Amino acid sequence: MEECIFCKIVRGEIPCFKIFEDERVLAFADINPITAGHTLVIPKKHAENLWEIPPEDFSAVQLAGKRIADALKKVLAPVGIACLQLNGRGVNQVVMHYHLHLIPRSGQEPPLPVSSWELKTGDMGAIGRLSERIAAAVG
Ligand code: 5GP
Ligand code: ZN
Repeated sequence: MEECIFCKIVRGEIPCFKIFEDERVLAFADINPITAGHTLVIPKKHAENLWEIPPEDFSAVQLAGKRIADALKKVLAPVGIACLQLNGRGVNQVVMHYHLHLIPRSGQEPPLPVSSWELKTGDMGAIGRLSERIAAAVG
């Protein structure tokens, strides 16, 4: 994955504001922050998305994400933190290297678009039928 921008950050070929690192994971500040403290947590080994990432790297990213969320709480005392992770260009994944966004909100900014959708009651029959199909497909 020579051209992958996050692989380049892992290899030190592009600089980053490093927040955390261990053998599997790197976390750094997003350079286009939605809010102050917006942090990205990535596996060091390239995987494009949730379907590709091996379970050990997935777990390591989640555990590091929790530690960093604790740090963000200490430093920023946010009113909340959105944890967001996009899979596929169809949902606006732009960098095709798995990454978990940690987006703290101070309360001064407007509501985050990612956490302020309108609730509309669904069709219970359709929800039930689809839930059964998905449940049957869980491996
Ligand atoms: P996505 O839409 O793929 O979930 O988000 C990709 C994120 O990566 C964006 O929030 C964007 O600001 C961030 N990003 C893209 N290029 C760079 C970079 O070179 N350095 C850092 N630190 N963040 C980047
Ligand atoms: Zn990569």
